[in-house]
Amino acid sequence: MIDNTVSLDSNFRTIEPYTAGEQPDYPDMIKLNTNENPYPPSPKVLEAGSVFDSKSLRLYPSVDASKLRRAIASYYGFEPGRVFVGVGSDDVLAIIFQTCFNSGRPVLFPQITYSFYEVWADLYRIKYKAIPLKADFTIDPKDYTGVENGGIVIANPNAPTSVAMPAEDICSIIEANPGSIVVIDEAYVDFGGESVMPYLDKYRNLIVVRTYSKSRSLAGLRIGFAIASERIISEMENVKNSINSYPMNRPSIEMGTASLEDEAYFRDKVDRIIKTRTVLTEGLEKLGFKVLPSSTNFVFATHPKVKAAYIFEELKKYHIYVRHFRKDLIDDYLRITVGTDQQISVLLEKLESIINIE
Ligand code: PMP
Repeated sequence: MIDNTVSLDSNFRTIEPYTAGEQPDYPDMIKLNTNENPYPPSPKVLEAGSVFDSKSLRLYPSVDASKLRRAIASYYGFEPGRVFVGVGSDDVLAIIFQTCFNSGRPVLFPQITYSFYEVWADLYRIKYKAIPLKADFTIDPKDYTGVENGGIVIANPNAPTSVAMPAEDICSIIEANPGSIVVIDEAYVDFGGESVMPYLDKYRNLIVVRTYSKSRSLAGLRIGFAIASERIISEMENVKNSINSYPMNRPSIEMGTASLEDEAYFRDKVDRIIKTRTVLTEGLEKLGFKVLPSSTNFVFATHPKVKAAYIFEELKKYHIYVRHFRKDLIDDYLRITVGTDQQISVLLEKLESIINIE
């Protein structure tokens, strides 16, 4: 007789996972909840997709996505050995957590930031300390100096606040922590933040992480990358090669390479989003919202009279999706992705009616 009453509990690594934004699929929806780009990828990417030789899928892809790795290295002016490519920056960051935070000392990151950091720390049993932001949602670099730590992770611009930190402040954090790896997650930097990529040659303990999901309109392809010293990148490669030898698929390598060959398209779409962000911010302010100064492709806004949770639910009735986090300190805020001008004009019109009825 098999005893099925014996508990299996001790076998599992139980974890509270990261909750991604909803992915509803209504033809008429206005989807402003996961910071995707409202514009299609560059025609060069579409072309690379259409000429892709599907028969080649019989073969495994390159172990280190070498074509894409070389293209990214040359685009940003680094040696390929300083670039690590992964399946979205989530993959890159997960590898960094496994590779770089093993000292036993706590990793520091802001209390309000990308909530995946906490999940990876829990998953990999890494101690961490969440550092409160200032009342205006800015990060005080002094909070990251003179504190014993086994690494620092800062999203700049930060999410979901949209607020950027000057590169000079980040440099002061890196300099104060020469024995720790400092990771700057620049997922949104193309929309207005100040990158610390120019300091990579100066600081051997710095890792800059980027994604194709926002400014390159390629969330569906899943491409992210890190640039750091050769030592850091080779340690990351060793960890990655201990998990999965071929994470980057062939179509992603081809299409991701093509994306870097269309600078004019990239700049045009980023500029458009920045312009629409101003329209969105001004429209929200006219309706009485307080909007944090955004350097990203989304805004973080609160209304002094109407609850964010209520607005969030009411917008859904019109199939308009924004993001609301049921969390201390930000429960009264909505994170709204910058869409097209047309989408933002519908959003503002519906918000006006929701706020006036309340
Ligand atoms: N970092 C930050 C700050 C983000 O907001 C996101 C998007 N959710 C990511 C990293 C991950 O993006 P991706 O995996 O699509 O590259």
